[in-house]
Amino acid sequence: MEFSVDPAARDRLAELREWGEKEVRPVGLEADRAGCPIPVGHPFFDRCLARGDGRTRWPGPGRKPAGPRMSIVTQLLLAEEFAYWDRGVMIATPGPGLPEQSVLGLGTEEQKERFLGPFLEPDRPRWACFAMTEPGAGSDAAAIQTTARRDRDGWILNGAKCFIGSASRSDWILVQATLDPSKGRKAQRAFFVPQGTPGLGPFKIEKKMGLKAYESTSFSLDDVRVPGAYLLGGDGPREHTAGFKAAMQTFNAGRPVIAANAVGIARAALDEALRYARAHELLGRARVRDRIEAMARKVRMARLVCLRAGQLADQQRANIVEASMSKALAAQVAQEATSEGLEILGLAGGRGDELIEKLYRDAKAMDIVEGTGQIQRMIIARKLVGLPR
Ligand SMILES: Cc1cc2nc3c(=O)[nH]c(=O)nc-3n(C[C@H](O)[C@H](O)[C@H](O)COP(=O)(O)OP(=O)(O)OC[C@H]3O[C@@H](n4cnc5c(N)ncnc54)[C@H](O)[C@@H]3O)c2cc1C
Repeated sequence: MEFSVDPAARDRLAELREWGEKEVRPVGLEADRAGCPIPVGHPFFDRCLARGDGRTRWPGPGRKPAGPRMSIVTQLLLAEEFAYWDRGVMIATPGPGLPEQSVLGLGTEEQKERFLGPFLEPDRPRWACFAMTEPGAGSDAAAIQTTARRDRDGWILNGAKCFIGSASRSDWILVQATLDPSKGRKAQRAFFVPQGTPGLGPFKIEKKMGLKAYESTSFSLDDVRVPGAYLLGGDGPREHTAGFKAAMQTFNAGRPVIAANAVGIARAALDEALRYARAHELLGRARVRDRIEAMARKVRMARLVCLRAGQLADQQRANIVEASMSKALAAQVAQEATSEGLEILGLAGGRGDELIEKLYRDAKAMDIVEGTGQIQRMIIARKLVGLPR
C-alpha cells in the first residue's frame, strides 16, 4: 500500500499551509472569540476569491474538464491540511459546497448551467448548501417529513430543516423532501430552492459549541413553490432515482473528507501539546511523553485508514467499509487527541485562552456530521457480518 503525491499536489499543500497560517487560523480564532460566523462581508472572503476559491469543478457548458482530475488522495491531504488550520473556516469558505457532487452526478445540463454557472467565475462570494436534517430526522434520513406536492407544472414544499451549513447566505439550497412520508427513501426527491423564494425562511442561526466560523441554520418551508425544472435530475424518468441517491452520493463522498478533517484537528492538538510541553520543559516526564507518543501513533493510524479509503476510490474500487472505518476512527482519535492535549496544558488549557480548548470543542462535530460514529459502526458491521437492516 503506497501513497504518492505528484509535485503539483506538493505545491498546493505548501501553498495551503502558508494560507492556513496567515489567514485561516486567525480568522477562525476571531470568529470563535466573537461567538458568531464570519460575516458575509468580511474581507477574508474577497481574499478567498482572489486566490481562486469558491469556484465550481463544473467546466462550463459543452466544455470538457481542463487537465487531469485531482486524485482523491490529494483532496484528502488538502482537507487534512485545511482542518489543521481551522475546520470551521474550511466549511465557511465560499463555493457550491456539499451539494456540488450531487448536481455534477445527477443534475441535467440545464441545472448545471443555471445553478453551478454562477460559480464558474464568481463575481462575489457565493454559497450553496444541502438540507437533509430535520428536527425529527437526523441519523434516520429516510424519516424526513418535508413534503413535496405536485402543483400544475411545479412543486410545493412544506417542512422544516435544521443545522444546515451556510443556509441563510446560500444562493440556493438543495432541499431533500418526500412525496409520501410513509414510503421512506423510495419517495425522496431533491429540489433546488433559490434564496428569496416566497415561503423560505425565516433563518435562525443555531448556537453551537465549536466550528463557529460557519453558520448552522434552521429554517422552514411554508408552501414554497418551485418549477418542475428545479427537481434534481429533471422532471423526466430520472426523477425516480435522483432523490435518495443524491443524498447518499453526498454522504459517501464526504466520509473520508470528514475523516481527513478529523486527522487535521488531531494533528493540530498534537502540535499544540508538543509546543506547550517543550516551552514548559515537560518532555522529561514519562506521563507527558507517553501521552504524546499515543497521540502521534493514533494520528498516523487514522491518516493511513483515511488515505486507504481515498486510494480505493481513486482506483474506482468499493470503499464503503473503509470510508466508514476512516470516519469512525478519525473522529474518535480527534476527540482523544484534543482531550489529551487539553490535559497536558492543564490549567492553561482549561482557562479557554489557548487554541487547544477550541480544538476540543471543534472535534466533537467530526463524530456527528454525515453519519454519527454509531451509524458508521452499523454500516461496517452490516457489510462485514450482514446484520439485519
Ligand atoms: C456542526 C454540524 C453541521 C451540520 N451540517 C449539516 C448540513 O449542512 N446539512 C444537513 O442536512 N445536516 C447537517 N447537520 C446535521 C447532522 O447530519 C445530524 O446532526 C446527524 O445526522 C445526526 O442526527 P441527530 O443530531 O438528529 O441525532 P440522532 O439521529 O437523533 O441521534 C442521536 C444519537 O443516537 C444515535 N443513534 C441514532 N440512530 C441509531 C441507531 N440506529 N443505532 C445506534 N445509535 C443510533 C446517534 O449516533 C446519536 O448518538 C449538521 C450537524 C452538526 C452538528
